[in-house]
Amino acid sequence: MKHSLEVLPLSSWIDTNGKPLIIAGPCSAETEEQLVSTAHLLANTGKVNILRAGIWKPRTRPGEFEGIGSIGLQWLKRAKEETGLLTATEVATAKHVEEALEAGVDVLWVGARSTANPFTVQEIADALKALGADVPVLVKNPVNPDLSLWIGALERINRAGIKKIAAIHRGFSSFEKTAFRNEPMWDIAIQLKTIAPELPIINDPSHICGNRELIPYITQKAMDMDMQGLIIESHIDPSVAWTDAKQQVTPAALADMLDNIAVRKPAS
Ligand code: PEP
Ligand code: MN
Repeated sequence: MKHSLEVLPLSSWIDTNGKPLIIAGPCSAETEEQLVSTAHLLANTGKVNILRAGIWKPRTRPGEFEGIGSIGLQWLKRAKEETGLLTATEVATAKHVEEALEAGVDVLWVGARSTANPFTVQEIADALKALGADVPVLVKNPVNPDLSLWIGALERINRAGIKKIAAIHRGFSSFEKTAFRNEPMWDIAIQLKTIAPELPIINDPSHICGNRELIPYITQKAMDMDMQGLIIESHIDPSVAWTDAKQQVTPAALADMLDNIAVRKPAS
């Protein structure tokens, strides 16, 4: 499969000191206190580069918490001012892009459900282009195991002038129930790596696993595959999280896990 991606390396937009890029933070921004206190604990580990938090949440079924909305952008701003962490959030519409960039969010990501919809991805791409944005954009794999759809979404964002792009491997939906919430289907990530070796791939063990117990194993595997970063959900008190409670880890548990993961030195 061919592609037309023009990609800048991660090191062109973030200094990780030769280590994998670590993005961590709660699945959802819930309250100002929850987000800011989680951010402080994450920053204090000295292991996190970017704070993540969903403001607009794409829930599978209606009637559940759908994100705190635009006010959360102000909380992200405060977390950044107080901790120095860069910030990242999910965007799914042109309005999200405009508001997130206006509020100074440093990195945007496209969620798995959005990647599966070319109209949505194109709307996001058009909004980025209209603003002449130069923000890094991370594109999660689509919910369905379709490599072309994943590459197509990356190409749409790339054609909007965004060269600071990376792919997030978060696993794929399957009807069959297995140990994982979303099947990793590593071969798809390997194929992407083979097709576009210059494209950074970040692993999302939280959404692959769906429970915190499995996260270290998937994280180690991602590192063994030389993926360039991790995005891991971390909450000050996972037991009371409003979304994805079973898969979130405390900042202390995150730091402990990262200490116990073996990372190969990058090839010199
Ligand atoms: C998330 O990152 O919280 C999220 C909704 O992820 P995904 O798009 O991978 O389901
Ligand atoms: Mn989540």
